[in-house]
Amino acid sequence: MVTRFAPSPTGRLHLGHAFAAKVAFNFVKNQRFNCLLRIEDIDHTRCTNEYTLGIYRDLDWLGFDWPVPVKIQSKHYYDYAKAIKNLCDLGLAYECSLTRGNIRDGLLPKNKGISIEGYLDNFKRSNNRPNITHSIRLDLRKSMQFLKDQKLTFIETSSGTEKEVNSKMALMDSIINKKPDPIIARKDIGVSYHIAVTHDDHHQNISHVVRGYDLYESTHLHVLIQKLSNWQTPKYHHHPVLNNKYGDKLSKRGLDTSIRSLRNNGLTAKQVLDMATL
Ligand code: GLU
Repeated sequence: MVTRFAPSPTGRLHLGHAFAAKVAFNFVKNQRFNCLLRIEDIDHTRCTNEYTLGIYRDLDWLGFDWPVPVKIQSKHYYDYAKAIKNLCDLGLAYECSLTRGNIRDGLLPKNKGISIEGYLDNFKRSNNRPNITHSIRLDLRKSMQFLKDQKLTFIETSSGTEKEVNSKMALMDSIINKKPDPIIARKDIGVSYHIAVTHDDHHQNISHVVRGYDLYESTHLHVLIQKLSNWQTPKYHHHPVLNNKYGDKLSKRGLDTSIRSLRNNGLTAKQVLDMATL
């Protein structure tokens, strides 16, 4: 069985990350899982190589171990673009230049219902980001109709028992309340988190996704993308997000609460791991 720790190198790891890593890597200790490390760095506007190197250094210092090679998402734009193209080819996606705010204010996307022709036509197999002129949204209503009576559920394991969660309700709720359709390709990066994460969980054979409860609502969309793409749905373990009591205390004293800074201030890895508890 395989799980993963999938940080985004948008800054230094802090105590919340140390806690999340502890939960994911504890699966290895307790239940003989493999835990992969994946670098989720498709967002070139926020991720840097320096932060990626910082992640390796901090996790290694904390005593975590992971198999190599590590999957670096920014080397796989083409794979994510193919997954997006598949949804476009099914007629389930449309181009949209409106923001969430615009849509909440009542503006209607004008290309809804018009399938995208030619996404990827000029995109050669390469590591480059797809160059697009509009964001691409997934038409939730059409996607649900496309799947007709298929089940849209996932198994949540965080309570210690396996609980089946029905994602259909949450997705229908989003349609009924006219929430903006989800973006599957961001204009600025050509792809999106939702596609990259579900693509990789499938292709890396992740059997259990371990991640923070802050991503719980996204899981409903992930189940939908998995069904539309013919990918299996893993089990999910959403852990509480560390309420950073030490972090707050430290930052009040003017201290940087990153793992790097705690290390530089003379704390041991054990002390930092002990601080990273709920
Ligand atoms: N890269 C995401 C983050 O750092 C986590 C994605 C996931 O675990 O599904 O918040």
